[in-house]
Amino acid sequence: MFNILKENISSRSFFILQARFKTKTHWAKLRKKTGPKYKALNHFDDFYGSVFGEQWPPMKEALLRKSKYVAVINNYGDEEETMKYLSNRGAHCLRDLMKIQQTFSNEYTPETESDVQSKSHTSIIDNYISRLQNDEVSGVYPQSNNVPEKIDLSNNIDKIIENKKDKEMVANRTLDEALDNAEIDQSRIIEPSMGINSEVLYQYIPATKLKGLDDWVPESLHYSYYNSKDKDFPLIIEPETEFSFPEHLKVYTYEMNSDWSMFPEPKRSQTGVFNYYPMDCSSVVAVLALCLSPGDRLLDLCSAPGGKALVALQTLLPDVVVCNDVSISRSNRTEAVFRDYLIDFGNNKWRERVVLSRVDGRNFTDDQGFDKVLVDVPCTTDRHSVNEDENNIFRPDRVKERLRIPELQTQLLVNALKLVRVGGAVVYSTCSLSPVQNDGVLHAALKHAFETYQIVAVVKDLSSPLRSLSSTLQLASGAAKPRYGQLVLPSTAANFGPAYIARLVRVK
Ligand code: SAM
Repeated sequence: MFNILKENISSRSFFILQARFKTKTHWAKLRKKTGPKYKALNHFDDFYGSVFGEQWPPMKEALLRKSKYVAVINNYGDEEETMKYLSNRGAHCLRDLMKIQQTFSNEYTPETESDVQSKSHTSIIDNYISRLQNDEVSGVYPQSNNVPEKIDLSNNIDKIIENKKDKEMVANRTLDEALDNAEIDQSRIIEPSMGINSEVLYQYIPATKLKGLDDWVPESLHYSYYNSKDKDFPLIIEPETEFSFPEHLKVYTYEMNSDWSMFPEPKRSQTGVFNYYPMDCSSVVAVLALCLSPGDRLLDLCSAPGGKALVALQTLLPDVVVCNDVSISRSNRTEAVFRDYLIDFGNNKWRERVVLSRVDGRNFTDDQGFDKVLVDVPCTTDRHSVNEDENNIFRPDRVKERLRIPELQTQLLVNALKLVRVGGAVVYSTCSLSPVQNDGVLHAALKHAFETYQIVAVVKDLSSPLRSLSSTLQLASGAAKPRYGQLVLPSTAANFGPAYIARLVRVK
């Protein structure tokens, strides 16, 4: 008897354990599927699916795969030996690849191409924004046939306030009065037997409504940054003519579709620093877009962890590089990277040329004027957002921060335009595919800089010089091509990016 009981108990606990285990797995999976990276992917499926159409699924596939990198050879340690070693392993010098590709490039007509693509691109985004706004409106006015054509924030806030006042009046009525007025909302009649009073209900309703509104308001503002029709400021797009590959910058890469696992780990050279820096090829392109000249005074406004600043230093061109970042911990990483890659030789002391600054880039001031400014802004970091839950901008508690990104980006770019001298250049870059954060912010910043500070900057069209990268990475073309900048698209053949790179030259 005891044995039967024991057996029953143990088989029951086995089932309970199994059920528990099953339940645990199930919930864990559920939680995972609704985590920030899935939220990001759903958001991108919707937004980028609308913007890029058929081009989005292969980009998404690439985004979810391991990214690829190039090797930026360190001029401060065993560079000849490293180049030889990488060449022997089948890597190519990026400068040589670009030179060869340039020879095969066709004649380019920037105006015509920009015009064609910008028209089609604008209408795609406009359609998406209008669909998004309709969705938002129908969420706010679920029963109404009288849906406003455009979201008017003030109207909606008035409506919520009106609603709240109504609720307050209801709350102050007696139960009989409330029942008399029951046609307002039948579902809100409170059964006294339930022990709930109208006060409780009143507190609940507006709180939920206001929470929904909280997220909804900035979402509309977010997309308002893409207002492509608004052109009441000088907007000039010219072909880039100054572009050249810096003599001392050595970058090694593998061609498209080749075996990318062949790069070995960077190793310490005889001088103690690492022999190469692995990075996304699009980051190198952002530095190339600066068109650095000897003696330049360069500001990297959002520099941490210092990858692009390091590439700029590897050109051996700038005299001064100011590396600013608002985050102290990330700025410390920049310093650590520089210590790992730079050494002093003779009178050339890197600490005398590199200045680390830790202020909000929107408030950075300077009285000399910079020759070049790089604004590599915080963004939705698309690749990171779909792959990692940690530090993900799509986390529910970061909604406001995410929706305010274009505003922050615009303010940073406007300040960069103020900080660059007339004749100098600003490069604006993101690692996002979002036309709102890319062309949208660029447009808004140019407009704001002109209206507030009478600053005029010309957009330099990089299409022609960057065409020579076509055997290395994939740049957006046709309807997917931005109007002002260049967009590096993730692809399984050359899994770099995403990155947006735009070059501006201040003329006033
Ligand atoms: N350029 C860097 C590189 O190549 O290694 C990457 C920069 S990362 C895309 C953006 C940086 O902007 C982050 O390090 C972040 O701390 C910084 N940042 C965010 N808000 C900022 C602000 N208001 N002012 C300055 N930096 C800011």
